Amino acid sequence: MDKHPSALSMFEQITSASKGKQIVMFLDYDGTLSPIVEDPDRAFMSDAMRTVVRKVARYFPTAIVSGRCRDKVYNFVKLAELYYAGSHGMDIKGPSKGHRYNKYNKGSRAVLFQPASEFLPMIDEVYEELIEKTKSIPGAKVENNKFCLSVHYRCVDEKKWSGLAEQVRSVLKAYPKLRLTQGRKVLEIRPTIKWDKGKALEFLLESLGFADCNDVLPVYIGDDRTDEDAFKVLRERGQGLGILVSKIPKETNASYSLQEPSEYTHRHIRKLSIFSLCSLAPHSVPRLNLRAIILSDGSHSVNTLGVPCSPNGVLVKEGSVVGLFEGQLCV
Ligand SMILES: [Mg+2]
Repeated sequence: MDKHPSALSMFEQITSASKGKQIVMFLDYDGTLSPIVEDPDRAFMSDAMRTVVRKVARYFPTAIVSGRCRDKVYNFVKLAELYYAGSHGMDIKGPSKGHRYNKYNKGSRAVLFQPASEFLPMIDEVYEELIEKTKSIPGAKVENNKFCLSVHYRCVDEKKWSGLAEQVRSVLKAYPKLRLTQGRKVLEIRPTIKWDKGKALEFLLESLGFADCNDVLPVYIGDDRTDEDAFKVLRERGQGLGILVSKIPKETNASYSLQEPSEYTHRHIRKLSIFSLCSLAPHSVPRLNLRAIILSDGSHSVNTLGVPCSPNGVLVKEGSVVGLFEGQLCV
């Protein structure tokens, strides 16, 4: 991972890159917020991760960008204050619950964009055909993601993988407007339109009012090939941070890496919260009156002056961040 250092070890550099900028968070779902599991219908995210995403979204516009059907990914995440881009970004909807970043949204409150609507009947037709063609292959699972399809083969005997791919290709021969790509133990079928997770990221930034903006820092975290489109957009813009979730070194357009979700949840997200707060415009730093800050060496600093302090140990004074403290807060 030398080329793509851990986002945790590069934390200080990331924090300084974010100073004075508005962070916008983009999060893939499977393998990023949830573990990869055998049954894709049971790819639940932990309550701890949900709490963290809720906290992040409190401070920044946050979008889930997934290959899944938008409704399905919403049912996993269950946070109404987020943006959701399902079907690899071909189905985008804004928060259904009030979000303070709506002030950046020049249009309607709920962004809604579906660039592949005309493909709906074709996708449904191909879904039926794929179900029929793959039913003789034990473990194969076809998922209808509304504007795209997935054929999961995680539970298929390895000897049957090439046969399954052949069956899928034979169905697609009659549909030249659909293309086939491969992800982590999944074949993805999508319309050939020029739209992907990278385009979705650009669309959302524009919708939020950050189209030609220098003081925005988009952060995209994802684990699969389809996320590379978003990493590439960030690299080409020379703006933002692409973070690849992977146990092993991979060719990637991301700048940083993180290990699997279960490994990084607590450490990463706690740091991310601090990182978030550091980069907030001073006026928006939430203030709490602390009684004490417990430092990591066990000592504590009593806040007798009533200096306003934000959660996670960021001490602010007259609107500026003046100190960072490792350790627990005692409010
Ligand atoms: Mg993923």
